[in-house]
Amino acid sequence: MMPTIEEIAVKSILSIEITKPLKEAIKRMASSNLRNIVVIENTPVNHKNFYLLTISDLINYKLDNIDEEILLKDLKLTKAKILKKDLNILNVLNEVETTDKYMVIVENDELIGILSYTDIINNIDPKILMKKQTIATLILQYKATTTYENTSTIQAIKMMKDNNSDSIIIINDDHKAIGIFTTKDFINLIHKNSNLHKPINLFMSNPVYTLNESATISEAIDFIRDKHFKRIVVTNDDEEIIGILTQKELLRIIYNKWIDFIKEEADKISKMNEELLSKTSILEEKASFDFLTKLYNRRKFNTFLEYEISKANRYKEEFLSLLLIDIDYFKNVNDFHGHLVGDNILQEVSKILTICSRDTDIVARWGGEEFILMLPQTNVEQAFLVAQKLRVTIEKHKFDEVKHITCSIGVTQFQRNEDKDTLFKRVDSALYKAKNAGRNRVEIE
Ligand code: GH3
Ligand code: MG
Ligand code: MG
Repeated sequence: MMPTIEEIAVKSILSIEITKPLKEAIKRMASSNLRNIVVIENTPVNHKNFYLLTISDLINYKLDNIDEEILLKDLKLTKAKILKKDLNILNVLNEVETTDKYMVIVENDELIGILSYTDIINNIDPKILMKKQTIATLILQYKATTTYENTSTIQAIKMMKDNNSDSIIIINDDHKAIGIFTTKDFINLIHKNSNLHKPINLFMSNPVYTLNESATISEAIDFIRDKHFKRIVVTNDDEEIIGILTQKELLRIIYNKWIDFIKEEADKISKMNEELLSKTSILEEKASFDFLTKLYNRRKFNTFLEYEISKANRYKEEFLSLLLIDIDYFKNVNDFHGHLVGDNILQEVSKILTICSRDTDIVARWGGEEFILMLPQTNVEQAFLVAQKLRVTIEKHKFDEVKHITCSIGVTQFQRNEDKDTLFKRVDSALYKAKNAGRNRVEIE
């Protein structure tokens, strides 16, 4: 796993209450030789705010001749970005801005640590990851070829060849490593024309430097580098050999591990992205539709209308008309038959409006028992005919329980360069006219 930010954060933190003077903060920073101090503000609602005071702030105060007696609360301190402790360092990159120089880790209002953007960047380093993993976890597949000290050299070389390894470790009866023989040593033997039937312990190099399995990968890398070795003989606590790691293998493992980490994190991030996208589209849908009727809501209607208005303003030949529909005496429906029946009628009317309008028309619930229709490329005379058709269809429709209802409709046409509000006002007064003239009517304004 990637380290969490808690693991890489600096835990020795200076803090001070915001009610204290600047002088006190400087004193504490100087005596502990730290570059920053967390300023804590206890709020009345029992939770804390955290601010940061850094050396660069101090320099600025000095340049601005700010009196050191000033209380911290009277300084414009920057609020510290607060992070939860179990975020891992790759996730945290998505949360912080490069401008967040310092972040504090807070859990239950307790200050746990402080970390800088640079800390995060520095820690996204394969070598740091390897500081946690021990070589014991890697060694399993890399068994060492071993043999006893009195094995003949030719036999030992044959074993190396059979095991496809470039070294053999020579052990004593207690299974302790006493020497190592490599393919390079073999070249010397041939060169000197040595007797290969002699025991291997005559030609091995010793002592064998070993590394305990609990060493971390990064210690193993240091070991190889410092000793200029090509391989590490890994032992357990009883100093028995449990495997051998070559430099090449070690590097390959590290590389692969790092790729795995990155893949794992990338998978997580893309999963999160997918979830976010689907949540966003659910929200978008919720924000656009009326729950009861499944028609567009007023908000969405407005965005469509704005678009059509801008088109109508741009092109001379673009007409645009609005219909505002209000069910007559709907309050009575609720009063006599109950809200559920009322709701069903609203749904039924919505269906009629949708079915009877064109695909390019926009039908929306304006609120309560009022609906609005936007008819692009339609002048007021055509819109009047559409309104009449809708009115008659609703009048003739047989609804459950209530049987018949009627509606009144106001119609108006968009005038070039007018704003939305005057358009709405006009369609509203057309509806008002229809209601006043006895309902179940269409009126134009
Ligand atoms: P008018 O002919 O003047 O339009 O009379 P009205 O009764 O239709 O008008 P009014 O504005 O007095 O009442 C509208 C009613 O619509 C009141 C409210 O109970 C009802 N209503 C609004 N929204 C809903 C809804 O979502 N479901 C139901 N069942 N009723 C609703
Ligand atoms: Mg109404
Ligand atoms: Mg009504």
